[in-house]
Amino acid sequence: MFEIEKNSCCECGACCAYFRASIYWGETDEATPGGIPMDMCEKLNDFFVVIKGTNDLPPRCSALMGIIGKSVHCSIYERRASACRDFVPSWENGDSNPRCDQARAAHGLEPIVPTPWPKPRNFPRAA
Ligand code: SF4
Ligand code: SF4
Repeated sequence: MFEIEKNSCCECGACCAYFRASIYWGETDEATPGGIPMDMCEKLNDFFVVIKGTNDLPPRCSALMGIIGKSVHCSIYERRASACRDFVPSWENGDSNPRCDQARAAHGLEPIVPTPWPKPRNFPRAA
C-alpha cells in the first residue's frame, strides 16, 4: 500500500480507515521477530488478529497517522502486515484496484487515474 517515496497513498490513507485489517497471528511479533507489534492488535479468533482500530465503527487503523486525503503515513511501515503490503493503489501495477477506488470513494476522494506519458518534444527525427 504505502511507499516511502511521495505517492498517491501518502496523500490518501483511505483504505487504512475503511477495511478491517485481519492478520494471521504468525505475522505478529509474538511469533515472528520484527513482526507487527502484538500490543497494536486485538484477537479476532484462534488464528487471526486485527490491527486495533480497524474493527471499530468507523474503522481507522491505530497505526495511521495524519489526515486522510491530505497527508498520512503508517507508523509501523516497516512492520506492517502482508495484507497491507499487498494492497496496491489503482494503476500501480497497470490495473485499477476496485477496493482502492471503493475506499477512496468512501472518504470522498476521486479514484486514481493513470498518468499519461508526456508527449515527446523536439524528438530527433530519423534521417
Ligand atoms: S486507498 Fe488506494 S491510494 Fe489510498 S492509501 Fe489505500 S491503496 Fe493508497
Ligand atoms: S498497519 Fe499501516 S498500512 Fe496497514 S492498515 Fe494500518 S496504517 Fe495502513
